[in-house]
Amino acid sequence: MFEYAPAPESRSVVDIADSYGLFIDGEFRAPADGDAFKTINPASEEVLAEVATAGPEDVDRAVAAARRAFPAWSALPGAERSKYLFRIARIIQERSRELAVLESLDNGKPIKETRDVDLPLVAAHFFYYAGWADKLAYAGFGPDPRPIGVAGQVIPWNFPLLMLAWKVAPALATGNTVVLKPAETTPLSALFFADVCRQAELPPGVVNIVTGAGDTGAYLVAHPDVDKVAFTGSTEVGREIARTVAGTGKRLTLELGGKAANIVFDDAPIDQAVEGIVDGIFFNQGHVCCAGSRLLVQESVADHLMDSLKRRMATLRVGDPLDKNTDVGAINSAAQLARIRELSEIGAQEGAERWSPPCELPERGFWFAPTVFTGVTQAHRIAREEIFGPVLSVLTFRTPAEAIEKANNTPYGLSAGVWTEKGSRILAVADKLRAGVIWANTFNKFDPASPFGGYKESGYGREGGRHGLEAYLA
Ligand code: NAD
Repeated sequence: MFEYAPAPESRSVVDIADSYGLFIDGEFRAPADGDAFKTINPASEEVLAEVATAGPEDVDRAVAAARRAFPAWSALPGAERSKYLFRIARIIQERSRELAVLESLDNGKPIKETRDVDLPLVAAHFFYYAGWADKLAYAGFGPDPRPIGVAGQVIPWNFPLLMLAWKVAPALATGNTVVLKPAETTPLSALFFADVCRQAELPPGVVNIVTGAGDTGAYLVAHPDVDKVAFTGSTEVGREIARTVAGTGKRLTLELGGKAANIVFDDAPIDQAVEGIVDGIFFNQGHVCCAGSRLLVQESVADHLMDSLKRRMATLRVGDPLDKNTDVGAINSAAQLARIRELSEIGAQEGAERWSPPCELPERGFWFAPTVFTGVTQAHRIAREEIFGPVLSVLTFRTPAEAIEKANNTPYGLSAGVWTEKGSRILAVADKLRAGVIWANTFNKFDPASPFGGYKESGYGREGGRHGLEAYLA
């Protein structure tokens, strides 16, 4: 039976408790039916904590708390909401070392990424939307921009805290209240964030965190008192949520999967492109919806580029996420590792050539060596399906038209990269790519001011920037 100990005033990563409650109405609480699940460190398979499972009664309580908090929160002058968001941003900065360690422990990602990418971006999102909260009336959103109400938000495990920031910051800035469900393999940073909300003295009920698996998420998005649903995760679950929400009048945004093309033309700065390709697919173990998982390289430079890429891959350090020198950490879960292995085997069986640099993987935990497949064609499953791991599929092309055709030959449309010295070519190619985000001579660059989102099966709606506010205004 789940034993719940009330959280201390201010919880620190060094005293992660044996058990975490649900954050409802400004307090950590035990779940109604006493159910819990374990979250583990994917680099060691050790249990990190026991976390409450929110059942229907708990989700009802969380939604009711958000509903009660909504009138006062939405009626606050924007400048007051702005102060709370600035306060949250500053507390995140102050506690970013603890949060980075916690995120790396629970997720498996290298500490140099959580410390230098995730946490700075999380704080930046709260700062950015803090700056918007008092300007909504003058920014052309209509004469009287209104919040939608209670937002039910469901997020994945690949950037747990950053996905939370993408969802919570614009929702609060616009005067909505929130019930958020983190992924079941990475609930800890969201619970730490709950503690940040307490420290910032955010009014009770404005943010509620319910932990649990997919059925908790399904119950939340179907809840009749949730007005707006925001989901980031797989395309399959996104489809299911779209069906649930259809006809209810709820507003919906979906950020789903991807199979991005990173297109390298023969005039590209090859060394720079190699860095972008490595970052595009091995950053965060390739657990990135906009990962550059398909490399499209112009035939005339393919051999040269592959030699450079393999040399660079041989320098990647795979191992302990808490080691500052680690480039590639652990795969987030046994289930995800099994999926990556399966698709990698299928790639080899279907005739593509598989290569990984020699690297010793730790015995315990979930690991997969950086891998590249050459000789890939569009018929291969590894060219079409999202692997969500450190696996790159390389295809070649001769002409720009062929590159565009291959890049667009996917049910997804989230992101793409174009590498060339010709500015005119960047614009011409980008214009024909069906992707929500297109990088030129770089990859995986994010900014809170920049909208992010997809076409086709990558979902709809935008997060980030001014567009991210529109998703939370009636
Ligand atoms: P997932 O869809 O399995 O789970 C995502 C979240 O949804 C989790 O919190 C899960 O508990 C919850 N969930 C599961 N079933 C549900 C249901 N029926 N109703 C409501 N909630 C449910 O995805 P995942 O494996 O956690 O994440 C990986 C996927 O997310 C990849 O496909 C990736 O491309 C995508 N992703 C997209 C973006 C983006 O911005 N487009 C960002 C990150 C991840």
